[in-house]
Amino acid sequence: MTARVLVVDDILANVRLLEAKLAAEYFEVVTAMNGVDALETVQRTKPDIVLLDVMMPGIDGIEVCKRIKSNPQTQHIPVVMVTALDQPEDRVRGLEAGADDFLTKPVSDISLFCRVKSLVRLKMLTDELRNRSLDSGALQVMGLNRPQVENVPGRVLVIDNRTAVSSRIKTALQGKHEVTVAEEPQQAIAIATEENNRFELIVVNLDMEGIDALRMCSQLKSLEHTRQTPILIIVDPDDHQRLLRALDMGVNDYLIRPIDKQELLARVNTQIRRCRYTEQLRLSVQASLEMAVTDPLTGLYNRRYLETHLTHLVEHSINRGKPLSVLTLDVDFFKSVNDTYGHDAGDRVLQELAGRIRANVRNVDLACRTGGEEFVIVLPATDLGVAERIAERLRKSVAGKRFNTGVEGGLAVTASIGVAALSGIDDKVEFILKRADEALYRAKREGRNRVIKAAA
Ligand code: GH3
Ligand code: MG
Ligand code: MG
Repeated sequence: MTARVLVVDDILANVRLLEAKLAAEYFEVVTAMNGVDALETVQRTKPDIVLLDVMMPGIDGIEVCKRIKSNPQTQHIPVVMVTALDQPEDRVRGLEAGADDFLTKPVSDISLFCRVKSLVRLKMLTDELRNRSLDSGALQVMGLNRPQVENVPGRVLVIDNRTAVSSRIKTALQGKHEVTVAEEPQQAIAIATEENNRFELIVVNLDMEGIDALRMCSQLKSLEHTRQTPILIIVDPDDHQRLLRALDMGVNDYLIRPIDKQELLARVNTQIRRCRYTEQLRLSVQASLEMAVTDPLTGLYNRRYLETHLTHLVEHSINRGKPLSVLTLDVDFFKSVNDTYGHDAGDRVLQELAGRIRANVRNVDLACRTGGEEFVIVLPATDLGVAERIAERLRKSVAGKRFNTGVEGGLAVTASIGVAALSGIDDKVEFILKRADEALYRAKREGRNRVIKAAA
C-alpha cells in the first residue's frame, strides 16, 4: 500500500524521524512545521492522512484538526493526533476536534504503520464509494447512500473471560454502541456466526487465561460469516510477538493495556465505520453488476445478458447431447394499450407479465426482456414438445386473467409465442432465434393469442 502522508510538527527532528520511517516503507511524505503551513499543504497536496502534533506555537494541532474537519473538501481526510504520554487531556480535546486516532510520542513502528494503514485503507474505501455515488445517480435511486455512522449504534461483540475488563469496555462504549459479551471461544464463535447476528466489530482480549485467543482470531478471520468483520485486540505492552502475529493474520487494530477510554472509542468508531463502508461498497458493486445485466422495468435479464449466455448454454447442450428450447413472446396489439390507457398502464402490464413469465418457468430457465414488449425465454434440457406445452401454459396464464393496471376492471391482454429447439450439433444461436421469430410471426398472422412451434 502506498499513500501520501502529511507530517506536521514544529520540531524539525520529530518531522525528520517520522519522515524517515514512512519513506522507508515507501509512503510519500510531505511535511509542514506550523499550523498555517499545515492547512495550506492539506489544500495543495490532498494527503491521504495527516499526522498532527498537538503542541505547536500559533495555531496548535487541535485548531488545525478542527479546521480540516469543518471544511467539506477536506473532512474525509483522516487525522491522527500525535500526543505526549503525559497529556491525556489532549486526547479528549483531539476527539472533540474530530481526530480519527492518536499516536503517543515516542511513536513506535508498529503503532505508526498499523494506524496509518488502517486509516488509509478506510479512506480508500470511502474515496471509492464517493466516486461511485457521484458517478451514478442510479445507485442512489436504488437506495444506496453513504452509511450512517455517527448516529446509528454499532453492534460490538467483546470476547473476554474477565468480567472486570469486559464491563469496563461496556461502560466506555455505553450509549454509543450495543455491546454483547462472550466469555469463551466456543460460545463466542456460536454467537458471532449466528445467522441474525451481524457484528460490526469484534473486540478480543488476547490474554485470556487458558485460551488460545490467536487461534480464535484466525478462526474468525476464516469463517464465511465473520471474515469481513473487523477485529480489535487488546494486548499487554510487552507482548510484541503475539501482537505482530495477530496483525499478520489480518487483525485490524489493537489497544495496549491499560485501556484508555478515548483511545478505545476512537478505534472502535474507525473500525465500525470501515465495516459499514465495506458493506456499502459491496452492495454498490453488486447493484452495478445487476444493473448491467437486468432490465430495470421488469427485473428480468436484458438483451446483453441473453446474448452472452445463450451462446454458452447452446454450446453446453451440444456438448452434453442435451436438448434446449427457446420461446419468443410478443404482446398482441400492445400499441393500443399505450394509446388507450397511457404509457404507465403499458409499463404496468409489462411488469405484471414479467411476473407471470417467472411463475411459469424454472429457476434454470433464462427469462429476458429483449425489447419493448418482446421477451425471450431459454429452456435448457427441454425438447420442442415440452417447450410447446410450457408456452401454451404461459399463453393461458396471460390470456386467462385480466391485468391489474389501475384501469377499472383490469385489462385483457394476450400474447403470441414462437417456439424453436436446438437442432443438431451444427445449429447456432442466431438460427434458433430466427426459427423462433418466424414461428412467432406465423402466430401473429394466424390470429394472435397462440403458440406456434418451428419445424424441428
Ligand atoms: P402486434 O400484435 O403486432 O405485436 O402489435 P403491437 O401493437 O404489440 O406491436 P408494435 O410493435 O406495433 O407496437 C409495440 C408497442 O410497444 C410500441 C410502443 O408504444 C410499445 N412499447 C415499447 N416499449 C415500451 C415500454 O417500455 N413501455 C410501454 N408502455 N410501451 C412500450
Ligand atoms: Mg406486440
Ligand atoms: Mg413487438
